[in-house]
Amino acid sequence: MNRIPDLDPYPDRPAARNSWILARRAGIARAEGLHPRRPSHWLRESEPDPAGGQAAILTVFLTNKECPWRCLMCDLWRHTLEETVPVGAIAEQLESALTADRAEHPNRAQWLKLYNAGSFFDPQAIPVADWPELARRAKSFERLVVECHPKLIRENRILPFQRLLGPRTRLELALGLETAHPEVLERLNKGIDREIFRRSAQWIRQHDMDLRVFVLVKPPFLNESEALEWACRSIDFAFDCGANTISLIPTRSGNGALESLAARGEFTPPRPETLELALAYGIQLGRGRVFADTWDLERLEADAARLSSLRVRLENANREQRIQRPTKSLTVDSASG
Ligand code: SF4
Repeated sequence: MNRIPDLDPYPDRPAARNSWILARRAGIARAEGLHPRRPSHWLRESEPDPAGGQAAILTVFLTNKECPWRCLMCDLWRHTLEETVPVGAIAEQLESALTADRAEHPNRAQWLKLYNAGSFFDPQAIPVADWPELARRAKSFERLVVECHPKLIRENRILPFQRLLGPRTRLELALGLETAHPEVLERLNKGIDREIFRRSAQWIRQHDMDLRVFVLVKPPFLNESEALEWACRSIDFAFDCGANTISLIPTRSGNGALESLAARGEFTPPRPETLELALAYGIQLGRGRVFADTWDLERLEADAARLSSLRVRLENANREQRIQRPTKSLTVDSASG
């Protein structure tokens, strides 16, 4: 991306932040080929399951209306539409992914992830009229994982869907904590604080659902050692809130806003060792499964040989939930912040 950085500071006033963030999208295109009746993408992956085996997972990236929040670090809007899709379109997307998956893979996936670059329980994104059909198709999986903003965790949205899904398919909600650093979390413009997150997480666990938490490794405004410390504190906080699974996401530029912060010295992506040390910390706790997101790893490591060995180490650690070799000693204070 060849953009001229601007030096306007990120507003301290929350009310001014949405327009600052939106202004920095200028010149960044949405992904090509998005269609309301086709999933943006689907893939097979696997994860260790709670019983110690490996679950085969079909992950479908649904095409739908953009999320209404304007988080400072988010570039998911690039894979979304500006309008709500017609009733029936999301179910069609799922059916086409299931058909394509069946054609390519003789073995059935055990889990289904329906990721929509926003919140599954946002009715502007996933029409409620589609729920019965989506639940009917998801019922053949052992587990369904969907994303949701912590503020949308409400009884009247989630419990009816859980009932449609029935008792044999475990519902897992994936929530972005992003960071437990109170000031940085506030500045991310996600509209939550630690207490809102904690209440939503507890509600999920009290209602017989599982909780997956996304944690950013090195959000803006933190230097490298603070980033490691707060990645570890965020892992502690997420487990304290009842997380079963934590996914560590290295913060990546690409949405215009982070480039602006980078030009002011307020953001750089994490070093690979920060991601790796945070993963090691989380796995060694033994409190639940912890994964490092390995997409776009080449943005963190330019050297081809080091990138290849980093990828192998992270994928092995993700799969085995074991650290094969100590990287560096962990010196962070592990107390939950
Ligand atoms: S809530 Fe999630 S999808 Fe929505 S803007 Fe924030 S990070 Fe992006």
